[in-house]
Amino acid sequence: MADSVNALPFFYGNITREEAEDYLKQAGVGNGSYLLRQSRNYLGGFALSVLHSGRCYHYTIEREPNETYAIAGGKSHRSPVDVIDYHSQEMDGLVCLLKKPCNRPKNMQPKVGPFEDLKEKLIREYVKQTWNLQGAALEQAIISQRPQLEKLIATTAHERMPWFHGTITREDSEPRLQNGSRTNGKFLIRQRDLNGSYALCLLHEGQVMHYRIDRDRMGKLSIPDGKKFDTLWQLVEHYSYKPDGLLRVLTEPCPRPDGEIGRPLLPRDHPGLSSALQNAAGGILSRLKTVPIPGRKKSRESRHNTTDNLNPYETRVPSNQAGSKEAMPMDTEVYESPYADPDELRSSTVDRNQLFLEDGELGSGNFGTVMKGIYKMRKTEKPVAVKILKNDDNNPSVREEMLREANVMQQLDNPYIVRMIGICEAENLMLVMELAELGPLNKFLQKNKQTTIKNITELVHQVSMGMKYLEEHNFVHRDLAARNVLLVTQHYAKISDFGLSKAVAEEQNYYKAKGHGKWPVKWYAPECINYFKFSSKSDVWSFGVLMWEAYSYGQKPYKGMKGNDVMQMIESGKRMDAPMNCPPEMYDLMRTCWTYKADERPGFTIVEPRLREYYYDIAQ
Ligand code: AMP
Repeated sequence: MADSVNALPFFYGNITREEAEDYLKQAGVGNGSYLLRQSRNYLGGFALSVLHSGRCYHYTIEREPNETYAIAGGKSHRSPVDVIDYHSQEMDGLVCLLKKPCNRPKNMQPKVGPFEDLKEKLIREYVKQTWNLQGAALEQAIISQRPQLEKLIATTAHERMPWFHGTITREDSEPRLQNGSRTNGKFLIRQRDLNGSYALCLLHEGQVMHYRIDRDRMGKLSIPDGKKFDTLWQLVEHYSYKPDGLLRVLTEPCPRPDGEIGRPLLPRDHPGLSSALQNAAGGILSRLKTVPIPGRKKSRESRHNTTDNLNPYETRVPSNQAGSKEAMPMDTEVYESPYADPDELRSSTVDRNQLFLEDGELGSGNFGTVMKGIYKMRKTEKPVAVKILKNDDNNPSVREEMLREANVMQQLDNPYIVRMIGICEAENLMLVMELAELGPLNKFLQKNKQTTIKNITELVHQVSMGMKYLEEHNFVHRDLAARNVLLVTQHYAKISDFGLSKAVAEEQNYYKAKGHGKWPVKWYAPECINYFKFSSKSDVWSFGVLMWEAYSYGQKPYKGMKGNDVMQMIESGKRMDAPMNCPPEMYDLMRTCWTYKADERPGFTIVEPRLREYYYDIAQ
């Protein structure tokens, strides 16, 4: 949303209410002129300022938990622009109809808030510190989780501010304010408890005034009867430019004593942080409880902190969202390769004595079964998936196929691709892989129809990131489909099944099959069927079908049609209709993936940023 709103000529960014009034009055456009600005108290929210009979009226457009926008108590709309369109036809509580946009003066860009500048640095530092990531793993984490990280940072940025003094008592805060300069309006904020209650301590005529800052049921912060805010830094920003009920405005931040400055941000498992994250996401502040997350990774802090007794397979999520598993990919054990740890020896073979198979099948195929297991490494134990080749001496080709798959997988290392841990030659040939416990995407979506479009887009975007990596490394997948995307958590997808994959020569960039095989025709581009030609571009076609499967909650594509009918349909220029409730932007992208000619079809270097942009738009 942020990007598309930024482009509106009547969007002013982070300006104050007073600045908005000046712009509206100076423009002299008259009754019903309006402008849009960024909310200074609600994350992701906006404010609409309207001129009527010489007075300005301001309405907050809140972003609601289900990604819609509304003026408090009013109708919900898909975007702030839709709110404006609606109120240009219907007053519906507004002082007048919105008649004419008051555009920004020439050469003025939307104003960037003070936090925006800090944000990039904080996000990078936070990801580095919390998950101990660097290089490509760090970049990929930021790209795939930017909206979540932005919320997280926005709600914890105060910890980095000089005016935030942590959990000190009222008695401790007073000498800090009385020390050094005794400027009126000197202030600090202290934390009162871990439930998100704070106090604003303000120096006024030599006396320290203490204002409680409470969190309401929606997680909003306010001093009693005061304006509500999503974050402490927004509150400080507001009271720094007007007293609004305080004895005076905030002027000078009272610095933390030496040594306390530059403390690291709270560890991710910190309950205050988890609740802040949930509140920023519009959740209700509730008691925290633990639910298991498959492959939960210990955060760097807990890895180094022997007193931390948090179960590494558990993470805290609010009880009202138990089961919705808000963990980020980086929280799991499979974000980085097990061999990223230099203390673990990299080897393509797995010792049978270190592999423990568990009861229960994860899945099966013509090669045999996939079982869950534990792989004991030097330092850690990893939950794994083990593809076990059935003993079929009559069919050596299946064995070769599995070894070929292992050979491809061994060359790949990306967070959005299932990694091979090694091959184990024992009672059977076994391919040991990272575990993606929630299984295939299509089945998951069939069973979980409440999954939001945002969640689906997050997963599909991750698949596009994995595919971009494959494309960059000159591999073609040749069997990209929702059934071959496995979920680690509801928010973490990995591409699997490299049985048909091929490395292609950089200069030729396609693979020519010798003949027609047992092919997933409904996922194949015309050139695969007609000329047996496979490239990253034909993977893009399959990716379009995968998107269709995802947005239709795991339905079968071209339902009821035979392969031949599908080919005829494609040749005649027809394509599948949009799935019900599919965002038009995403259907448009599918159609682009189904461009007939491979040369005119975009590659993943174009598809991935398009998905990214849409995902950020709906998630921010
Ligand atoms: P495949 O033949 O590779 O598609 O595997 C068959 C089935 O086994 C898949 O549909 C999954 O249900 C399961 N499976 C395969 N690999 C994994 C894995 N790494 N983690 C969890 N389940 C898996």
